[in-house]
Amino acid sequence: MDEKKCIKNNAEETTGIVYLVGGGPGDPGLLTLRGLDYLHRADVVVYDRLANSLLLDYAPQAQLIDAGKEPDHHPIPQEQINCILIEKAREGKTVVRLKGGDPFVFGRGGEEAQALADAGIPFEVVPGVTSAIAVPAYAGIPVTQRGMASSVTFVTGHCAGREPLNLNWSALAQGNDTLVFLMGIHHLPQIVESLISAGRASETPVALIEQGTLPEQKIVAGTLADILEKASDIRPPAIIVIGEVVKLHSTLNWFHPDATYLSEMSNVR
Ligand code: SAH
Repeated sequence: MDEKKCIKNNAEETTGIVYLVGGGPGDPGLLTLRGLDYLHRADVVVYDRLANSLLLDYAPQAQLIDAGKEPDHHPIPQEQINCILIEKAREGKTVVRLKGGDPFVFGRGGEEAQALADAGIPFEVVPGVTSAIAVPAYAGIPVTQRGMASSVTFVTGHCAGREPLNLNWSALAQGNDTLVFLMGIHHLPQIVESLISAGRASETPVALIEQGTLPEQKIVAGTLADILEKASDIRPPAIIVIGEVVKLHSTLNWFHPDATYLSEMSNVR
């Protein structure tokens, strides 16, 4: 696809629209009503790996494009995804770009919106329930709590290639408040070591939550001192929660996806 051609602004030809829709963290019941409405109306749905594929059932009429994979199983490069959105809208289509969680939280939704704006394509953003809050919530961890944490910081634990993470560790290690790392499991050793060397107490509680909000949800809890020994079974997608609020997990852990829960969940669909 010719990228230059697709970025050129020829808004007068466009009758389509792109909806950047947050699909929620995994549990399909957490899609918003507006997201559902736009899925019903979509001619094309361009979806990501992290958006629950059950949500595609709401768009049986739509052409489905898996942005996570090409036929050779490589992810489609971002520029090409932008081009697909632009081209489909220029064909007059109603396009849903379905992303995991919230489109503007580490989801490259901002870049897609920028490309659409540059190309003169009308778009709307439908915020989603971000995994940064919902996944801790399904583990019984409120990300803020009076007397425990008066702020929460969302941090990316991902960087290009195998480089070490380039973050302001002394700022992150200050105070007692909550840190939520997304995409951080591969860099867990560096995260733990950097926070401790920057002054965060080694007894600070830590939880790792894999496949949060889904029946496969797995939780490991510990402290900065021992979480690495406990982490070997945790695979992406996973969230790292660090801070006093993690202690609440032991009493507030409410999500036990037994058969009743799962059948209620399928009624939601
Ligand atoms: N826009 C998304 C985040 C995309 S970055 C959102 O708002 O949720 C992808 C990262 O999100 C993953 O590496 C993981 O850290 C986190 N994540 C997404 N879904 C998750 C889930 N169900 N369980 C645990 N972590 C999840």
